[in-house]
Amino acid sequence: MQYISTRGENERRGFQDAVMTGLARDGGLLLPDVIPNVTDKLQAWKHLSYTDLAFEVMRLYTDIPEPELRDLITRSYSSFRHPDVTPVRSVGDIHILELFHGPTLAFKDVALQFLGNAFEYVLKKTGQEMNILAATSGDTGSAAIDGVKGREHINIFVMHPHGRVSPLQERQMTTVPDANVFNIAVDGTFDDCQRIMKTIFSDLEFKDRYSLGTVNSINWARVLAQIVYYFFAAFRVMRLTGAKTVQFSIPTGNFGDIFAGYVAAKMGLPISRLVLATNENDILSRFFNTGVYSSDTVHATISPSMDIQVASNFERYLYYRLGANPKTLSQVMKQFDTDKKISVPPLANGQIDDLICAGAGNTVQTLATIKEFQTRYGYLLDPHTAVGVHVAKPYVTKNSPMICLATAHPAKFSQAIQDATGSDLAHHPILEALRDLPTRCAILPASETEIRRHMEKNI
Ligand SMILES: *Cc1c(COP(=O)(O)O)cnc(C)c1O
Repeated sequence: MQYISTRGENERRGFQDAVMTGLARDGGLLLPDVIPNVTDKLQAWKHLSYTDLAFEVMRLYTDIPEPELRDLITRSYSSFRHPDVTPVRSVGDIHILELFHGPTLAFKDVALQFLGNAFEYVLKKTGQEMNILAATSGDTGSAAIDGVKGREHINIFVMHPHGRVSPLQERQMTTVPDANVFNIAVDGTFDDCQRIMKTIFSDLEFKDRYSLGTVNSINWARVLAQIVYYFFAAFRVMRLTGAKTVQFSIPTGNFGDIFAGYVAAKMGLPISRLVLATNENDILSRFFNTGVYSSDTVHATISPSMDIQVASNFERYLYYRLGANPKTLSQVMKQFDTDKKISVPPLANGQIDDLICAGAGNTVQTLATIKEFQTRYGYLLDPHTAVGVHVAKPYVTKNSPMICLATAHPAKFSQAIQDATGSDLAHHPILEALRDLPTRCAILPASETEIRRHMEKNI
């Protein structure tokens, strides 16, 4: 399997190179040159355990020798607290795919535990060092830190906007004592953090000198790890219900998670529909309803991990949607850079996409959905999951069961649970245990030079 850039760069890379690079040099995102069709394997895969299934899916895309790959997968998912890794629960007339049993209680662990192991594997082999620079508005930071803490050959620098992530999210990051972890609270917004990150990464000399790496959701290994649970959940639910197809509802921010579902469908998994759910930051849901992708200002909501206006993985989708033509895609992305807006004409049937449909859930609807599931079923939905469950409602049918992705444990967003239900119901011992731990964090101005200097000093 070779990896190519969405923007047509000539270089083709193997998996290990693609994982270490993150972004292509031409600014494009990396994609496999072909997506393998696995229709004839589905029968044999149906009853596999999570890690066996992960091995079957991942080996199609990687150049890591099989015994090592199996070992990486086993180690990555042994940190999960459920034997199924990502168990499926039937609640009312939907199925909830619980992706939050990893160390930081968010679905990002599924990808970042694997990515951390993959980085360490490659670096050990090549004897190189890597310095990860990341920007987070919340969940990514702690999951990334947990994925690489204490590992050899890797340092991680994580910027978060000072005072603008929840106190709990901040503690999840800053209480990690390992010497290779550097937290930076930037005096500014998340956009400032992202801008600094972009500037630093565009300095190729600096990037090469310090072997900068990313863990952001554009890294192909993250998408790959997420493809697995679409197969796992579809098999479980098809066995349970006897259905021949399933639908998924995915609370979406950067289009990473849903893009993994899109690839699973392209591989031949019988998915009848992907429901893309956003909160009030609805650039993606507007796109799938109108064909116009135009960024707006970011609103703070109770599902903060989806408070995003430009979805970094969307380029991968657009690449396929626009005919897998890197020239067209490059032009369109350039146009978006200048106009902050692009339009895609509908398909012959008037839809924007055959598989993906989309909607948005606002705060009132999200809280009402949390309340409904708590009173009816005694099941707590975190606010991100609740957005997905709300938007999925009109599509729920028996023929093609609805699987809603649960992306965070409710205890990570206990205030929203309290607002919705009137009671303080969401707790988790892992989070309670953080309360009294010492924290470590540098507070720095929103200046690219200062961040650079800080990195150079600590590397
Ligand atoms: C990151 C995140 C999302 C959004 O995932 P994308 O891959 O960015 O679409 C949804 N819910 C939670 C809890 C998250 O942390």
